[in-house]
Amino acid sequence: MQKTKKHRPSWDNYFLKLAMLVSERSTCPRMHCGCVLVRDKQILSTGYNGSIPGDVHCEDEGCLVVDNHCIRTVHAEINAITQCSIRGTSTVGATAYVTNMPCTNCAKALIAARIKEVIIFSEYHDTMAERFFEVAGIPIKRLKIPSRKIEYDLKSYSSAKKTEKSK
Ligand SMILES: [Zn+2]
Ligand SMILES: [Zn+2]
Repeated sequence: MQKTKKHRPSWDNYFLKLAMLVSERSTCPRMHCGCVLVRDKQILSTGYNGSIPGDVHCEDEGCLVVDNHCIRTVHAEINAITQCSIRGTSTVGATAYVTNMPCTNCAKALIAARIKEVIIFSEYHDTMAERFFEVAGIPIKRLKIPSRKIEYDLKSYSSAKKTEKSK
């Protein structure tokens, strides 16, 4: 009982940690980024930086670099926004939990999608995001990187039964 409570993350940490997990699906070795769009503590969508559907992956074919940016991937934030558009989910008033400060174009897309807050735990090397968010009145919350460990102590849960493969 006590044990479960000890590791229970705050909402911000929970969604940031999810963004980190989502980023594991990224396919560009230059940057792994994850984004989770949240409203009323519910996940609207997730996104990571990966190739456009059907295209080759950077990790297989190398990056496509122009002006010191890999331009092959659709960025995490854009993928999260387009996931909402595919499903007909409004992004108005959502909070964007992102592993990194958005790049300039993603910042503009988040603003245009009426995101109301951005929460990150790391910076990005080349971005005008801060300036654009300020103009748009969108606060940026910079938090500490959440624990990179996922707690699931299967052995200690008395109600759990392992599957064959988990043994
Ligand atoms: Zn790349
Ligand atoms: Zn971006």
